[in-house]
Parts: sequence; structure tokens; C-alpha cells
Amino acid sequence: MLPLEELERAAVAAGCLTVREEPMSRHTTFRIGGPADLFVTVCSAEALELLVKETQRLQIPLFLLGKGSNLLVSDSGVRGCVACLSGDFHEISLSGETEIICGSAVSLAGLCNFAKKYELTGLEFAWGIPASVGGAAYMNAGAYNGEMSSVIQSVHALLPDGSHKVFSGESLQYGYRHSVFMENGGVVTRIVCRLFKGNRDAIALLMEDYYTRRKEKQPLNKPSAGSVFKRPEGHFAGALIEQCGLKGLRVGGAMVSEKHAGFIVNAGGATCADVNALIEKIQETVLRETGVSLECEVKRIGE
Ligand SMILES: Cc1cc2nc3c(=O)[nH]c(=O)nc-3n(C[C@H](O)[C@H](O)[C@H](O)COP(=O)(O)OP(=O)(O)OC[C@H]3O[C@@H](n4cnc5c(N)ncnc54)[C@H](O)[C@@H]3O)c2cc1C
Repeated sequence: MLPLEELERAAVAAGCLTVREEPMSRHTTFRIGGPADLFVTVCSAEALELLVKETQRLQIPLFLLGKGSNLLVSDSGVRGCVACLSGDFHEISLSGETEIICGSAVSLAGLCNFAKKYELTGLEFAWGIPASVGGAAYMNAGAYNGEMSSVIQSVHALLPDGSHKVFSGESLQYGYRHSVFMENGGVVTRIVCRLFKGNRDAIALLMEDYYTRRKEKQPLNKPSAGSVFKRPEGHFAGALIEQCGLKGLRVGGAMVSEKHAGFIVNAGGATCADVNALIEKIQETVLRETGVSLECEVKRIGE
């Protein structure tokens, strides 16, 4: 048994909000996922430090949740503590002419709008990605030939040993949907973006253009976690899946989208087990028919 009571007491004393047995389906864009043992909303850097320290001391697993837009959470839920950043982590400000300092709980949409307001260009590609800034920096989210690594100057993180560190350049180890935080377990607390002076109307137009393209191609009216698979080198996962005739394939409530075969949608009442079974079918079929092995981009959480 995990000593959750002790952790909960410490978290509440530090000003956190806590909930037991919180359904993760409420916090994922897939609308899938069983209960988290202890769900903690963390509003300050001090409270986060304490939570990291206490979970280490009590050996309680800690999972950092963003907007839950890249997660497949198990039907049996998440053992240990799920933390979600709020409060002070929503701060956003302009620094100098072209830099934005942004807390990791800010939505990527909020950051894009802030950049547009101050006529800063470079982030338009991110408009429509339903992420938090922390999750986007962690995943190196990207679209339309842009990715977070191209605009991020530095990332502030709290490491599991309780130290704060600023990462920039090579030390971020940015690659395709990869960052150093996947290796070191750091919690992204804020980022510094470096953008360029632009024109508000041109920025708005580009954002709108990207969003229109998304609406045309992606099943945005159904719960999903975006593209399930990483782009295999030299191919597109969606095109391979479509080529294998898998559009519309269903397991329970999980279905390969008719609109974009790279998406699995929750067509109603889907469980994590349904999605996992569908993922397996897709991987097996695509490997057999095309020789390409598809790797999951979606993060699978829980047993
Ligand atoms: C409709 C739709 C469209 C999408 N389109 C795109 C797209 O175009 N491009 C793209 O790249 N992705 C896309 N995605 C996927 C998703 O939005 C991204 O992967 C995003 O970066 C996830 O951010 P999040 O805040 O939701 O993180 P979550 O899904 O909550 O978490 C993802 C991972 O990030 C970690 N994490 C979150 N916050 C922090 C933090 N502060 N510190 C450390 N780790 C953290 C989590 O622990 C987890 O491992 C799409 C998803 C949907 C549903």
C-alpha cells in the first residue's frame, strides 16, 4: 500500500487541491482512463518542490499531467499521484521585444494568442494543437514544418532530485517528438520563446489557414489523442493505414477515423482495452502488408 495519506496531508498543507480516485477520463481528450489514486492540483513552485520531494521520499510514483491530449490511460487508472499545474504556472509575460516567458500550465492556444497580440511571429504552426505549454515543450510538439524546438530558447525544469535547472540548445536534446525531459524526468515549469517581429493580420491569417487545414483533415468533432503513431521515416502513418484498408475498423467503441486514418477516435464508450486492441491490429496489419513498423506517439499510462 502506498502511503498516500501522508502525501495528501503534505500537499494540502502546501496549498494544493487534492482529490482521491479522480477519473482520468475527465482529464484526457480521448475521454478514456480509470481513476488516479491521488489527483493533485499544484499552484506554486514551492508546492511543486514539496510534492516532488515527498513523492521521492515516500516512493510514490508521480505523473505530470498537461492537457491530457497525448495520453491513453489504462482502464484501471493510475497508481500513485497525478499532478496538474495551475495558479502561478499560468503566468505569461513579454521580455524585451521578441521574447515570451510562459508558465507551463498556459495552453498552447493562449501562448499563440499572446504572440499574436504582441505581433510576434513563429508560433503560428502550433495553433490548433490542444496542448499545455509544458506538454508541448516535453513532447516537442509540431505541425506544418514547425516544432516547439524552433521557438524555444530555454526551458526551466524541476528535476526529481529537487534541483532547478535551465536547459537550452543542445542540452534540450530535441528531436522528433523527443526531449531531454523524457530521459531525466524533469517537470517543465516554464519556457522562454524567442520569436520575430511580425504583422498581426498576417499572423492571424496564417493561424486561420493552419486551423482550416486541420478542420478539413482531422476528426476534431470526436474525442481522440491526435495522431496515434509517430511518422515512420519516409512514410506517413495515416497513408499506410488507409492503404491497408483499415479506415473505419472498430474494436468496441474505438475506431480508426474515416476522416484521417492516423487518428483513432472514441466513437462512444471506448475503453483503453479497446484502443490497445485496435492499435495492435493496426500495427500487425501495416507490418504484414507494407513491412513498416508503427511506433506509438501516444503515451500509455497505467498498467
Ligand atoms: C485533435 C488533436 C490534434 C493534435 N495535433 C497535434 C499536432 O499537430 N502536433 C503534435 O505534436 N501533437 C498533436 N497532438 C498531440 C498533443 O496535443 C501533443 O502531444 C501535446 O504536446 C501534448 O500536450 P499535453 O499538455 O496535452 O500533454 P499530456 O498529453 O498531458 O502529456 C503528454 C506527456 O507530456 C508530459 N508532460 C505534460 N506536462 C508536462 C510538464 N509540465 N513537465 C514535464 N512533462 C510534462 C506528460 O507527463 C506526458 O508524458 C494532437 C492531439 C489532439 C487531441
